[in-house]
Amino acid sequence: MRYEYSPELETYRTQVRAFIAEHSPFVRPHAGVRAPEPEQLPAIRAWIARLYDAGYLGQDWPTEHGGRPDGRPELGFIVAEELARARAWGQVGAAGLASGALLGFGTDEQKRRFLPRIRSGQDLWCQLFSEPGAGSDLAAMSTRAVLEGDHYVVSGQKVWTTNGHHADVGYLLARTDPGVKKQAGITAFALDMSTPGIDVRPLREITGDSDFNEVFLDEVRIPVDQVIGAVNDGWRVANTSLGHERSAVAARAVELEAALDDLFAMAGRITSGDRPALADSAVRQRLGAIATRVHVAGMMSKAGQSRMLHRSEDAADAPAVKIFFSQANLATTELGVALQGIDGLGVEGDPYVHADGWWQDAFLIARSFTIAGGANEVLKNVIAERALGLPREK
Ligand SMILES: Cc1cc2nc3c(=O)[nH]c(=O)nc-3n(C[C@H](O)[C@H](O)[C@H](O)COP(=O)(O)OP(=O)(O)OC[C@H]3O[C@@H](n4cnc5c(N)ncnc54)[C@H](O)[C@@H]3O)c2cc1C
Repeated sequence: MRYEYSPELETYRTQVRAFIAEHSPFVRPHAGVRAPEPEQLPAIRAWIARLYDAGYLGQDWPTEHGGRPDGRPELGFIVAEELARARAWGQVGAAGLASGALLGFGTDEQKRRFLPRIRSGQDLWCQLFSEPGAGSDLAAMSTRAVLEGDHYVVSGQKVWTTNGHHADVGYLLARTDPGVKKQAGITAFALDMSTPGIDVRPLREITGDSDFNEVFLDEVRIPVDQVIGAVNDGWRVANTSLGHERSAVAARAVELEAALDDLFAMAGRITSGDRPALADSAVRQRLGAIATRVHVAGMMSKAGQSRMLHRSEDAADAPAVKIFFSQANLATTELGVALQGIDGLGVEGDPYVHADGWWQDAFLIARSFTIAGGANEVLKNVIAERALGLPREK
């Protein structure tokens, strides 16, 4: 069995790589899914528009909404991988999720209103799903949306909202029927983030950055025509649109491979006594072990892509890739810091720190990947129950 792209797709990859090299406005200074600095936003919005115009984002959208006639998921995987390899910005925030929801469940009027603004970079979206009491158990959410005339009035609190402080529109889940089974009474909305009653409070993270936010909703009025899908059918809308985010996993695996290259280069530069660290057999063994894990993570990601394209996916595929990747990433960044010895205590801005503190930041943010997109422990339950058929957790 071989995991290779066809010559036609490799030609496409070369074009994408050249396009990014020529037009991408910045290299991302940090690893992982992060929020841009506010002063970068105008250039990033213009870059997003350029990617859509060139047919490198939204390839598999229907052609009437700007998709490519030859659009298919493979093209999206390649673009995501090349953006990650170049450490370039791609789509910022939850527009991928939101466009999936709109294309799958939105009215024609909603598609006409929101999709062109995603394509032009005018609207950045955030994902307003998680709450302080509802993360892994998302259906336990308590944010309420109550119908009053031609508006829903929403009150509650969301948390972990990546890019909430930049977002123009929120993809919101709220409870519209508290009287039914948890999943059944939830509705999806498009929420204009400038609506009165929304208070976005950035959370300062261990890295020193603020990528996530708490979002407080106090009697926020949403017109009924901004319900996405049917009322009380938001659980299905959300689960379906999450399937549109697969290219993100492919991107993370490529980002990890690029980090591995940097790790080897750093081990060649750093000296331990009078020799490069790379000459130390203990370092070489650790590097070998990490390289193996990174390679396996890459192959698992490719296998997952291939099975998805052939519609032969197993329930364990996506969770297993996510668990393995996040742990390999954690181990890679730990070694990246450890290799630096005492200098590893430095941070961005310290004159002696390697790669301007990229490794320290990557190490600090790495643990979040074991939680984001489903905590690893919960994903192990998914594998146990849905792939292995073990009894459900009580
Ligand atoms: C980097 C990052 C970005 C994020 N961005 C967004 C965003 O933009 N929008 C959004 O809505 N959400 C976002 N999230 C939230 C994310 O979806 C939740 O963090 C995740 O679902 C876990 O929920 P929680 O944080 O409430 O943890 P909890 O569900 O409270 O879990 C806490 C711990 O308990 C364990 N646990 C929970 N249930 C079980 C169980 N049944 N069996 C075994 N162990 C269990 C978990 O594994 C975890 O270790 C983001 C999270 C991160 C880390």
